[in-house]
Amino acid sequence: MLKIEHIGIAVKQLSDAVPVYEKLLDTLCYKTETVTSENVNTAFFRQGGNKIELLESSSPNGVIAKFIEKKGEGIHHIAFEVADIHAEMVRLRSEGFILLNEEPKKGADNKLVCFLHPKATNGVLVELCQEIK
Ligand code: ZN
Repeated sequence: MLKIEHIGIAVKQLSDAVPVYEKLLDTLCYKTETVTSENVNTAFFRQGGNKIELLESSSPNGVIAKFIEKKGEGIHHIAFEVADIHAEMVRLRSEGFILLNEEPKKGADNKLVCFLHPKATNGVLVELCQEIK
């Protein structure tokens, strides 16, 4: 793993949360993107070499809506940048981690992504991401 690429934060409403994070970080949101396959609307901030991803559910049954129902707003996942997502998936599977995706899928912000089940990572949802060249 190369570095923490971003931290994902589940929010009820991007329209409320984006101005809060713009004030907090003193920087403007540089990108919003809808990931239809995941039922999420995202908003990204750059801070140093890292990013913050705000996640809003685009459907009442989406994973973010369910997360907020259960746990409330807050940190949803930590994403690590990897050089070779396929190799990392093989390595992590062999180490006993539970992958939530059989194959990498297209995520937000031009990335191939794969999620790890929090059961095997002390309760933290982990995302692997690799930049699509
Ligand atoms: Zn993410």
